[in-house]
Amino acid sequence: MPLYPLFADLRDRPVLVVGGGPVAERKAAALIVAGARVRVGAPELTASLRARVEAGEVRWIEGTFTGAWLDEAWLVVAATGDRRVNRAIAAAAEDRCILVNVVDDPALCSFHVPALVRRGLLTLAISSAGQAPVLASRLRARLETVLDESLGALSELAGRYRLRIREAFPDVTQRRRFYAWLLDGPVAPLLGRHREAEALRTLEQALQTPHAIARAGRVTLVGAGPGDPGLLTLKALRALQRADVIVHDRLVDAAILDLARRDAERIDVGKRSGEDHAATQRRIHDLLHAHAAAGRHVVRLKGGDPFVFGRGGEELEFLRARGVDYEVVPGVSAAMACAAYAGIPLTHREHAQSVHLLTAHCKDSIDTLDWRALARERQTLALYMGVAQLEHLTERMLAHGRDGDTPFALVENGSRPGQRVVTGCLRDLPALARRHDVRAPAMLILGEVAALAPQLAWFGAAIHPDTDLADAA
Ligand code: SAH
Repeated sequence: MPLYPLFADLRDRPVLVVGGGPVAERKAAALIVAGARVRVGAPELTASLRARVEAGEVRWIEGTFTGAWLDEAWLVVAATGDRRVNRAIAAAAEDRCILVNVVDDPALCSFHVPALVRRGLLTLAISSAGQAPVLASRLRARLETVLDESLGALSELAGRYRLRIREAFPDVTQRRRFYAWLLDGPVAPLLGRHREAEALRTLEQALQTPHAIARAGRVTLVGAGPGDPGLLTLKALRALQRADVIVHDRLVDAAILDLARRDAERIDVGKRSGEDHAATQRRIHDLLHAHAAAGRHVVRLKGGDPFVFGRGGEELEFLRARGVDYEVVPGVSAAMACAAYAGIPLTHREHAQSVHLLTAHCKDSIDTLDWRALARERQTLALYMGVAQLEHLTERMLAHGRDGDTPFALVENGSRPGQRVVTGCLRDLPALARRHDVRAPAMLILGEVAALAPQLAWFGAAIHPDTDLADAA
């Protein structure tokens, strides 16, 4: 039979915990949070329970269990670890009509303690009626990932405005619609961004001019990371699960798009053949604007981090100029991911004190770089979009004094199932890239730290430095 769920108000009500070990300690702590007057009965206590007794948070009944301990108790938790004693406690509680929980012994329980997800005062409780506690706790972990932290602040706000909302919307249907707006509209994201004053203003305004409530659209600029879906942030996942429309680059993995809300519209905005970059970018701007203006929540999903060679800045400038609300969720950039997945620490006390993220996707951009500075030793260069320019790069680095023995690692498809890492030293870089036919997307990591890759590698195929260039030249 399913259990009857209830949330008990234990403020200032006496509750008995029997047992003085670590389990009793955890149970007592949870009861203290709920404001119960906790008494702990046991011959001995853990140091931290003792500290609670000294702090006046818990009263200690020293000794072994007797029925008299149950006098006045509203609830009992048996956490002695001794089945016989627990059984006696359960029987005594039953006699006196007091609800009892026996830790890890559902057959002896008259109440169960659920797995919890908490956001402020908002509490989700999960129970399997003691049948599958592990399942319940896995489900709890899953819910933790999808529910935004700002829900706590939102529920407190809803509590504070409850009467005003009731007055403003005496009609139940209207009130429901208002709460839907409160949950899905602009207030929750403002709270999530710690803009409490603005959230309050928005709420006040909605109460004063309820007819003007429209579902305001917005854009969340989200970094999808380098490919491995596990590298998404919780915020990225939550945004994907709430999106109405997802505007994504071609480089974003299908496995990541699979995590999005099923009925979200997906739009691939990769460059079309014959279209130049400026035209692509204009098309993207217009799409974002049009969908947000129509009241939709748009997720603009980009590979890696949106602010690292991702044109995220340009997109936000465009949206800002048109008054579209936005937020940004950073992603793991390819340099960080490729370094980590190839076993290369980007900085190292002995080998590199700085990291440069740079791009050289064409001859023009190569010519604008400060080669003298980049060629200094004991620093790491991470080069984006550079596969076609390795020859130029090598030539410039050597010309500006970087040692031809400087180690490099080329990481192709970093963090993905097909990741390949080619290592060697600077003077052989173009030849090795050609020999191994390295293709985009690939990241060049150049600097002393790259020598660590063969030792520290842990992902994908093992790395064998290629030093035999006899037939590569
Ligand atoms: N905003 C992205 C970079 C976009 S530029 C970020 O922060 O990562 C695209 C370049 O990133 C590619 O040409 C390649 O150099 C690099 N890149 C992206 N994903 C990669 C991957 N999985 N492995 C190796 N390089 C990658």
